[in-house]
Amino acid sequence: MKLTSFAIMFVIIISPFIFISAQETETAIQDNKLRYYYDNIIDNAAVDAAFILSNKGTGLTYAGNVRFTEAKQLAAEVFFDTVYHSFNAKGNQSLMARVDACIPVLVFLESEGFTLYALDEYKNINGQNEIKHVWFPMQHYIGEVLSDRFIIRYTLENKIYIFDIADQTLREGDYSEFEEEISYFKDKQTFENLRLAAVKNSVEEKIMAYMDYYNQWTLGKSFSVKLEFPSIDDADWKRALTDEGIIVYAQGFPVLTGKNYKHYALGGARVIRRAPLTGYTYQGILYYCRSDCEFLQNTVVSDPGFNRDSIAYFSNAYETAAEGYFPCPNCRP
Ligand SMILES: [Zn+2]
Repeated sequence: MKLTSFAIMFVIIISPFIFISAQETETAIQDNKLRYYYDNIIDNAAVDAAFILSNKGTGLTYAGNVRFTEAKQLAAEVFFDTVYHSFNAKGNQSLMARVDACIPVLVFLESEGFTLYALDEYKNINGQNEIKHVWFPMQHYIGEVLSDRFIIRYTLENKIYIFDIADQTLREGDYSEFEEEISYFKDKQTFENLRLAAVKNSVEEKIMAYMDYYNQWTLGKSFSVKLEFPSIDDADWKRALTDEGIIVYAQGFPVLTGKNYKHYALGGARVIRRAPLTGYTYQGILYYCRSDCEFLQNTVVSDPGFNRDSIAYFSNAYETAAEGYFPCPNCRP
């Protein structure tokens, strides 16, 4: 066989593979872009909702004093409106229901406790089953029992509630008032760590219980995706705890390839003061960008070698520097 015909044979044999692999790469690129697009929609909506919370709804649709409960309701409405509009679904009942199914839970963190606004099934006035987001009862941030004796209820501030198992009393006050009795409270950092663990564990336990509940009642129903929420990084918990705010869990938006879409977003007043920064690993280097950076949106996200799981969010340059990220030369964040 002549060399040229051998070459032709070779091309004929491998060309389908070249074609498939180019297709796969293109799919992976589009898939990455799609996931990034979803992330942005959810993040922006969470920031919009947190903005309402931090203003307690004032000056928006209400005037004057609005209690947190009403602000929460308004924030939840603003959140879903923003998302519906982003997907061009507003007004289309079935599309809105699909979006709802992909964002089953919002968690509102308040000083004294947290509330789930989550999908649930209930009977409407016509006796038909309906599924929509409803408010679950507020839960407290309960920590581990200290010194085999004290059950501590934490808040997002320094105030705590102490139940003494030994003499069956309940007291409240600034944690530092109890440092003689409870040695853990002599050190501020120890207190902060206990508080962080209490908030994180209380919220995560409730989320897990909700997931079990949800997965049971949706078993065998066509619309459902099994809930498997991503766990929240400790750095994000710390950020979440600086303020009353909101945590959004999203999952199951349609993707082109690879594993299921999962995402969580945090919105709090601190995030609003400055647009969040996006950190990521690109070509082996940690960078951070403004979220609207064109280099990030066009070049990085489209790179088939880019690992989407490396994305992390920061609220200021100090946090990025502390974790060893370099500023992007393109958007100079
Ligand atoms: Zn950039």
